[in-house]
Amino acid sequence: KDTRNPLRRINQEIFNFAGLKQREIEELKRMADFRREFLADVSHELKTPIFAAQGYIYTLLDGAADDEAVRTRFLQKAANSLDGLDVLVQDLLMLSQLETKQIRMYYSYFNLAELIRAVFDQMEGKAESQGIALRLPADFPEQLWVWADKQRIQQVITNLTSNAIKYSNDSPEGGGWVEAQVREEGDRIRVLIKDNGRGIPAEHLNRIFERFYRVEKSRAKVSGGTGLGLAIVKHILEAHKSQIDVQSEVGKGSVFSFRLKKRKDKRSRSQQTELAE
Ligand code: ADP
Repeated sequence: KDTRNPLRRINQEIFNFAGLKQREIEELKRMADFRREFLADVSHELKTPIFAAQGYIYTLLDGAADDEAVRTRFLQKAANSLDGLDVLVQDLLMLSQLETKQIRMYYSYFNLAELIRAVFDQMEGKAESQGIALRLPADFPEQLWVWADKQRIQQVITNLTSNAIKYSNDSPEGGGWVEAQVREEGDRIRVLIKDNGRGIPAEHLNRIFERFYRVEKSRAKVSGGTGLGLAIVKHILEAHKSQIDVQSEVGKGSVFSFRLKKRKDKRSRSQQTELAE
């Protein structure tokens, strides 16, 4: 590149400018496509809980409210549908912000081992009620420092663990478990969430990260998922320049895993946190 030649320099500048415009146009097109598809998907998904709640409420108004037991049961069901709607709207907002890159990641240096323990503690009740054991290997570390957005990574681990519990093996013998493991891979830490649940058929494996994609449509409704959990996970990890990997075998179980950066250099913890802000 000869920047002393003015003609060449001007040429280069025009070239850069045109390249920039092209990229901007592509970005705008991408956003427009995204908005159109998103709206279509969303209106479809919103209808399910709205119709359900309407159904219960109108049945109550039609006279079902006279019977106290029926009244309580129907009100509870209407409330559950509206709770589901609330979760769906929250997930949708998060996903749309992630997909259009409106969410900033707030990096800091934090103890990943502690975060995983905290998520497992939080989900213990839910797992127990389904007869699933949440476990960590005996050599699971006390400290494991990584450089990432702690709140978002907490959401990734929560979504993966919640799925592992939800799609656990429902055989009457029980014996279901979910295990978190960590592995060092050079300057990265790999986190693995393993389950011995029902597994995912190979032909669905690369589609489960699409929004609203479910392996079993009807069962997903029963288990109350929004179909957005894995799409959110994928986008959060992409923002971390990482990716989500999955291995699964039907009837045996699944392993979801991803990698995070270990501490970059030997700066003190407070300096690292300052850099994040
Ligand atoms: P959902 O709200 O339906 O759980 P997700 O995006 O979290 O939405 O997951 C998409 C689909 O992937 C699920 O409906 C389920 O079919 C499948 N899936 C996700 N995690 C697991 C798992 N650990 N075991 C088996 N199937 C899973």
